[in-house]
Amino acid sequence: MSREVLRPNTIWDTVLTALKLHCDEHTWSTYIRPARLEQYDPRDESVVLQIPTDIPRGKFEREAVPMLEKAFANAIGVVPRIFIESVNGSVAANHEAPMPVAPEPRRSGQLGLNPEYTFENFVVGPSNRMAEAAARAVVDQPGRAYNPLFVHGSVGLGKTHVLQAICHGVKSKQPDAQIRYLSCEQFVNDFIDAMKSGRYTSFRRAFRGIDLLIIDDIHFLSSKEQMQEEFFHTFNDLYNANKQIVISSDSPPKDIPEMEERLISRFMWGLPVKIDAPVRETREAIVMKVAERRGVSLAREVVEFIAQTVTSNIRELEGAVTQVAALAGMLRKPISISVAREALKESVGLDAVRRTSIDDIVDMTCKHFGVRLSDLQSQRRSRNVTLPRQVAMFLAKKLTNKTLGEIGGFFGGRDHTTVLHSIRKINEDIGTSQELGQRVALIEREVERRSQ
Ligand code: ADP
Ligand code: MG
Repeated sequence: MSREVLRPNTIWDTVLTALKLHCDEHTWSTYIRPARLEQYDPRDESVVLQIPTDIPRGKFEREAVPMLEKAFANAIGVVPRIFIESVNGSVAANHEAPMPVAPEPRRSGQLGLNPEYTFENFVVGPSNRMAEAAARAVVDQPGRAYNPLFVHGSVGLGKTHVLQAICHGVKSKQPDAQIRYLSCEQFVNDFIDAMKSGRYTSFRRAFRGIDLLIIDDIHFLSSKEQMQEEFFHTFNDLYNANKQIVISSDSPPKDIPEMEERLISRFMWGLPVKIDAPVRETREAIVMKVAERRGVSLAREVVEFIAQTVTSNIRELEGAVTQVAALAGMLRKPISISVAREALKESVGLDAVRRTSIDDIVDMTCKHFGVRLSDLQSQRRSRNVTLPRQVAMFLAKKLTNKTLGEIGGFFGGRDHTTVLHSIRKINEDIGTSQELGQRVALIEREVERRSQ
């Protein structure tokens, strides 16, 4: 699923929906409802809100901005910088003069962390177990366990969450530790600012005293040569002083385009870990966790429905919970599967998605061969495991829209060539073995029956 779903209007709707559910009537009608989203810029995660001049800005910042930050964080995954603009609306209020119009950034906490991105709130499953374990090891032994820790995976799978969990973890164990958490974009912007205003030395120096440097989305440095050079020095300074470095990216080090070789090789010094798309059980656990955190109660079947419908992006999975709860609230109906289907129809294009899920394929294949999901995801290569694994991959390619890479990710992080090899193998074998052909056809029929 693409990022398309996260259009500004969708984000704002999600934020409003969440706040409507959670904030009191007074706050809602006095502050939130009159506000308007003027701009959302995903590049630096900034938000510009307009409020009528009769709402005092100071009050708005105290009463509304903290909950807006939280709601935005839930919708887009980071705490945005919120800028408030007063625009000419009705009469100015008489108790407090309106503040000047110049926008002013706000951040929650010094580090700009989302307080919800902790280890406690991180659901662990086969797709992210390695990353979580490595992150915990870094908290236990910063600078010694894995340096750098390099977390990669596609969008919305929990990289930022893991990185921030490390910050929270280190902060609570060593309150005095100097931590710097930056999106790669911030690193670039800070650097450019420093260059412009001739504060280059102090920019450099600011990184010297740091114990833990976390840079999110390092692929943003791609093709920015000067910045790569700068980061290279920062990296070396910290690494040589045994300071912990944690980096995330949307691809493994060697696949980041236009990145200097010497940086790539440094990224590989420590431990590169991948986060894959979550399997169904993990998705269900996440849906339950999100619902619990938002105070929404969901029947088991609704949890299953959501987890089966939104499969490739955890941020969208979270958004789905909000949308379903919001629609039920609006219709004043209990949250049922039909409400959920209605709510998700547009945003995830429910009708367009093939409904066969890889989980059904795996379930049926496992039943048929008498093996477990964990066998298929394991590294074992005995025939009684490889055959069902190959069959499941073959059917996943045939019956779903998943790419070879996604299928490989599902089966214990195998790469696309392995998946391709499996598909070819089964294709050949069902041509020569009638028995195998029948077995595969039988599983396929069972899967299709289930997804109707
Ligand atoms: P990425 O940085 O990889 O794009 P994020 O870390 O922003 O993804 O995750 C997207 C959303 O999904 C966040 O709100 C995050 O809290 C949530 N999330 C991701 N992985 C998990 C998990 N394992 N358990 C609970 N929530 C998760
Ligand atoms: Mg991220």
